[in-house]
Amino acid sequence: MKRGICILGATGSIGQNTLDVVARHPDRFRVVALTANQREEEMAALCRRYRPKLAVMREESAAKRLRQSLADLPEITVAGGAEALQAAAVDPEVDEVMAAIVGAAGLLPTLAAVRAGKKIYLANKECLVMAGSLFMEEVRRHQVQLLPIDSEHNAIFQCFGDERGVRRIILTASGGPFRQYPLEKLGEVTPAQACAHPNWVMGQKISVDSATMMNKGLEVIEARWLFDLPVDRIRVLIHPQSIIHSMVEYLDGSVLAQLGNPDMRTPIAHALAYPERIDSGVHSLDLTHCQALEFEEPDFGRFPCLALAFDALAGGTAATAVLNAANEVAVQAFLDGQLSFTGISRLVSRSLEEYQPSTPQSLEEVMAIDAEARARTRSFLRSGLAA
Ligand code: NDP
Repeated sequence: MKRGICILGATGSIGQNTLDVVARHPDRFRVVALTANQREEEMAALCRRYRPKLAVMREESAAKRLRQSLADLPEITVAGGAEALQAAAVDPEVDEVMAAIVGAAGLLPTLAAVRAGKKIYLANKECLVMAGSLFMEEVRRHQVQLLPIDSEHNAIFQCFGDERGVRRIILTASGGPFRQYPLEKLGEVTPAQACAHPNWVMGQKISVDSATMMNKGLEVIEARWLFDLPVDRIRVLIHPQSIIHSMVEYLDGSVLAQLGNPDMRTPIAHALAYPERIDSGVHSLDLTHCQALEFEEPDFGRFPCLALAFDALAGGTAATAVLNAANEVAVQAFLDGQLSFTGISRLVSRSLEEYQPSTPQSLEEVMAIDAEARARTRSFLRSGLAA
């Protein structure tokens, strides 16, 4: 029987890759709901191609424009606003949800899907960075199947057998576009340079996070919760070619790695079909033609955001929620030309210095910490403290 899928963040990089895989298997999947924020033209094109039952825009004004442009397709219901986003994720015809909204905005709709017992494909790592233990508690309480989409976590999932035999997991990282860039010039790099990732094509926010290596820090936090491992059993290793997507080391010395071309359709297809395997459209990996595989230790001096993420993880959920909020504000300010590239880590660090250690007991508390951290970070930004 076909499974009904909702794609949260359908117009984004993960959303479009998911639709590419789904379209290859019309016998397996039915697109029930697509959501986006404000890019209604991209959404209209997706609706014409995939004919969902429901199309939701987070911005009400974008929903209005989408409704007008889809007037000739009355079978597609168009809705707008935050509540409609959550309603799409819990629609009775939806069996599974691709959580691919970028940033903190993904938390509530993904959580709504968890609470409705939907199968979750998790791309939005920010859910776990903001609310790790609370989110995983909900996953357990509702006995939901949660499959990782991030290529590193998906690789680890594929290599992870009996966890009692695992010594540690090794997250690989390309090092991004600035791994060897002159340190003294990092303060002048532009958003276009930061978004030009050597191996992956991704949305702007995760591209900047990859350039600062905050992305790897967020992934360490994500791995801590997904695989229930303490931070001292999670290692980061630079591997510039992005052919090995991550590894699991066992007590007997065995190391299992997952390899493949850097194309998000592989982890997406793996998760969508799990435990079966389906075609993803990705070419075979030709090891005779790829560059030599290299590895090196991460340079925490060059990438202070990675160190900040490890520190925040040691500080608990309130600290990782602050890290996430401050980073989102800082990355947006960099993209808007209000902050230098090196200012990102300074601003996040400044915001973390001021946070009040606490262990949030509810999602409401997490959202309050997030809002307060954003306000504080914006005020540091306005006062030029990170310049
Ligand atoms: P994109 O920026 O390409 O897409 C983001 C999607 O989220 C768009 O559909 C966007 O809509 C929507 N969106 C943005 N803001 C909101 C909001 N406030 N409310 C509702 N929807 C919103 O991001 P990516 O696809 O690159 O990344 C998505 C998630 O997946 C991130 O958490 C990222 O870390 C993770 N991820 C991405 C990978 C990749 O290869 N891209 C790899 C691994 C993880 P609109 O188009 O209208 O703005």
